[in-house]
Amino acid sequence: MCKMNNPYQQTSFILGTPDTRHAPPDSGVEVAFAGRSNAGKSSALNVLTGQRALARISKAPGRTREINFFQVREGIRLVDLPGYGYARVSKSVKGQWQRNISLYLETRQSLGGVILLMDVRQALKETDQQVLGWCHAAGLLTHVLLTKSDKLKRGPAKAALFQARKAMQQLHPEASVQLFSAHTRDGVDELQQVLDGWLGLEKNP
Ligand code: GDP
Repeated sequence: MCKMNNPYQQTSFILGTPDTRHAPPDSGVEVAFAGRSNAGKSSALNVLTGQRALARISKAPGRTREINFFQVREGIRLVDLPGYGYARVSKSVKGQWQRNISLYLETRQSLGGVILLMDVRQALKETDQQVLGWCHAAGLLTHVLLTKSDKLKRGPAKAALFQARKAMQQLHPEASVQLFSAHTRDGVDELQQVLDGWLGLEKNP
């Protein structure tokens, strides 16, 4: 990524809220990052923006259940959705999470696309499939990151990529899939190109 222009380095925190009614005005364009807790969402946002502090904000006590909005520049936002899949949370908390996220995905006019992160070794768990289903139903552009690709050798990583692309034919045929590692930076350029396209940054880098 160092060779490419990186407009994401200027990203700053706007606000966090558990309730979409308190989101920033629904104008301009934003891309949401979704995934199970521990999938590597914070690490991906860190390498993309070059800012450790951003992910710390989303991880602060009390903020992990919130939708956190970040501004890349005027009218262009990245959105960190609360991680899902905590085994220990109650059914009512899960239900609330589902309502909040599905409502956000279905109704947010400025939402230009969703980046869905899954650990390459445990991709497409039940809730991942549910989120893909919501994205598909809402007609949202969706790009899947198979994270922590450094944990697998080249052959198994490629096989996982192939499997995920195949599964996508059923779950969300328009979705794209790539391997990603925040540790080795594998796939960071590819992610940035997708985001640049969705956010209109390739014309105004
Ligand atoms: P989040 O809960 O989705 O925000 O996940 P984090 O970004 O906090 O990452 C969860 C754990 O996975 C941490 O221990 C990270 O160090 C680790 N992790 C994240 N990305 C990678 C990666 O690309 N490779 C490896 N090996 N570990 C990673």
